[in-house]
Amino acid sequence: MEKTVELSCHCGNIRLSAQGAPEFLVSCNCSLCRRYAALWGRYRADEVQVIGEDTDTRRYRCGDEFLEFFACPRCHGVTHYRNTEKLDDAIISLNFRMAEPKSIDTIQVKRFDGADTWTFLD
Ligand SMILES: [Zn+2]
Repeated sequence: MEKTVELSCHCGNIRLSAQGAPEFLVSCNCSLCRRYAALWGRYRADEVQVIGEDTDTRRYRCGDEFLEFFACPRCHGVTHYRNTEKLDDAIISLNFRMAEPKSIDTIQVKRFDGADTWTFLD
């Protein structure tokens, strides 16, 4: 069994736990992710438990509404996003800025050019 990864927003309203660390984290420069300054770690939806999503989140869909972003209404931390019903695969990406810094020290960060070419830059 892989080690459980725990994340939470600043005030603790939204808590996420996932099975094992992702292979890498994604820093994306698209118009939304650069504003959130998030570091995304991707999972299948069934690999992650989210506490507080139904009752304690604000949600944002932009553009074609393929993705839905979740944030805490109290401390405003952006915690995760999910593929919407418009996509077939149930994927959730967690914002690893919500993890303890030491727990992500050893995970590689890859820069993704979501603003333009949709390829990794490194
Ligand atoms: Zn919060």
